[in-house]
Amino acid sequence: LPEYAFIGRSNVGKSSLINMLMERKHLAKTSGRPGKTQLINHFKINKNWFLVDLPGYGYARVSKKDKKVFQKYITEYFVKRKQLVCAFVLVDIRHEPQPIDVEFMEWLGTNGIPFAIIFTKADKLKPGAIVNHVNTYLRILLEGAWAEAPPHFVTSSSKHMGRDALLSYIGEINNGFYTN
Ligand code: GDP
Repeated sequence: LPEYAFIGRSNVGKSSLINMLMERKHLAKTSGRPGKTQLINHFKINKNWFLVDLPGYGYARVSKKDKKVFQKYITEYFVKRKQLVCAFVLVDIRHEPQPIDVEFMEWLGTNGIPFAIIFTKADKLKPGAIVNHVNTYLRILLEGAWAEAPPHFVTSSSKHMGRDALLSYIGEINNGFYTN
């Protein structure tokens, strides 16, 4: 089944977003690989796709050794998962592009892994400021070596915003996916 990965800095709002996307009645939690369930969780949604919850990166209080272990799992996941359709990189809508996020997106691009950006916590901005912040973020991003802006979505888990757009995108890019 096709997989869609969700990843971002710790505290970006990933758990809240995943909770918003999931309807518990359709949900079956499965462990991707034994022994790694705390690091990478797979959630089966509507019986036809997997939401993959990857560990947050950039933990301030995690040791260097643990960071390496996280990176290893994340890298391994991306390199090996043939089912992966898209990686959603979560960023806080209030922040400028952070080096760790930009590096990660560059890494995805270099490795040919399709990704999209999810701007979280949009309720923290006034409606009129949202478009400005998104455009500023993308403009700064494009000043790097980016050919074009990645697909992007604006969400707020506390205001239940952006869910439909995200789910229909997932449905769209799911078309044409074949399992063997
Ligand atoms: P994670 O570490 O990325 O899984 O982040 P969490 O989902 O645990 O959220 C981190 C903090 O941000 C918590 O205090 C949440 O209540 C808050 N948060 C998450 N999503 C939103 C949102 O859409 N709006 C607001 N205002 N706060 C949010």
